[in-house]
Amino acid sequence: VKVVSDVASLDVETELGPAVRSWLKATDIPEVPIDFDQRVAVLRDWQRCLYDAGWLGLGYPEKYGGSGGEAYGRLIVTRELINARAPLPVSVIGLELIAQVLMKFGSEEQRVRFLPPILRGDEIWCQGFSEPEHGSDLATLETKAVQTDDGFVIQGQKIWTTHAQFASWCAVLARTGEPGSRHHGISFLLVPMDSPGLEARPLRLISGDEEFGEVFFNEVFTASENIVGGLNGGWPVTMAMLALERGAYLVRRHAELEVAFDEIISECSPSLSRESLDLVRRIGEVRALLDAMSAKASEVGSLIARGGEEGVASSIAKLFISRTEQAVFDLAFVLAEHSKELSWANVDSFASSRWLREYLYSRASSVYGGTAQIQKSILAQRVLGLPRDGA
Ligand SMILES: Cc1cc2nc3c(=O)[nH]c(=O)nc-3n(C[C@H](O)[C@H](O)[C@H](O)COP(=O)(O)OP(=O)(O)OC[C@H]3O[C@@H](n4cnc5c(N)ncnc54)[C@H](O)[C@@H]3O)c2cc1C
Repeated sequence: VKVVSDVASLDVETELGPAVRSWLKATDIPEVPIDFDQRVAVLRDWQRCLYDAGWLGLGYPEKYGGSGGEAYGRLIVTRELINARAPLPVSVIGLELIAQVLMKFGSEEQRVRFLPPILRGDEIWCQGFSEPEHGSDLATLETKAVQTDDGFVIQGQKIWTTHAQFASWCAVLARTGEPGSRHHGISFLLVPMDSPGLEARPLRLISGDEEFGEVFFNEVFTASENIVGGLNGGWPVTMAMLALERGAYLVRRHAELEVAFDEIISECSPSLSRESLDLVRRIGEVRALLDAMSAKASEVGSLIARGGEEGVASSIAKLFISRTEQAVFDLAFVLAEHSKELSWANVDSFASSRWLREYLYSRASSVYGGTAQIQKSILAQRVLGLPRDGA
């Protein structure tokens, strides 16, 4: 690995981007296998390579395994990776969510223990929030944790847990208050995935990947020091994590969608004829959506650069993500069909067309991180101040 000396001293606006670009040019960028298990293994190695070069620790102090410097630099590194068509590190949940939540709400011991392996990719994390009957209405979750002398014993089930079968640790929301205590009775617990009584069962997506799963907790113990935010104090931690998943994620997703759009146009549009006016109009509409998302990405990026946080307004970002992502891959699907590259009749496996896989996966973007309908309700009630039903 070529190590860039003193990454933290590079000027974020003028020097960091070019330094990442020249490092990438001198580095073997791995091919990402379609098979999910193989993909995870390759991306683990790639994360280690990025970390060793100094790119992943920006904004984190050295005592937590970081390289110092400005947190905003992480967004620049991500954008450069995407523009260079290089893969992102494996542990996006750890890097983009857990590490930042621990910086804000974790104890000193938790930061020292958990941040270095998150940054290096040695420990993959998953997020155990949703339950079979409690997704949108997360505050009613039923997985229970009973406090003992030295920790908590957890009983219940989570579902749609991304990377559950690869993860070493899970951030689990559990009810420690009375039943019916809603968000006042929830604790945020860090749980080792190899705990006795814990079982992760993979679920298959329509794209063929086993990217997420169900997690069952049968009297699973986690130690007292693994609570974040205090007893029954998990809700502000949860809201902060969801705001990151909805807000800062837009900056990364915008860069990815721009690259995808360029590829779709160059691969699929040459067959367009003068008669394809409807398709041309559709391309224009998607371009306009991307331009709007680009403006939002700049706004979110500069907020992060100033050390700000989006809070409930992150629901605007989440709606931008799902609307634009679905429009981009709907377009890919229509153009690929038009150019005869793709038809449902000749698709023998989902792996056979990248655009079909992307189209299918994009259905999930109006569900994960909170559905589009829920984001609209949050905006109506908490940003615009409109009355709730019947109020
Ligand atoms: C690819 C993917 C990855 C995921 N990864 C994770 C993960 O790692 N960890 C995790 O904890 N969860 C994860 N999830 C789960 C995700 O957060 C939930 O699916 C989501 O919050 C919706 O919950 P639900 O599936 O229970 O749907 P429900 O809450 O049952 O909703 C069903 C439908 O009803 C609508 N609806 C529900 N309530 C209302 C309301 N009050 N007003 C209007 N409409 C409403 C919803 O918008 C939706 O259309 C993932 C989901 C996907 C698709």
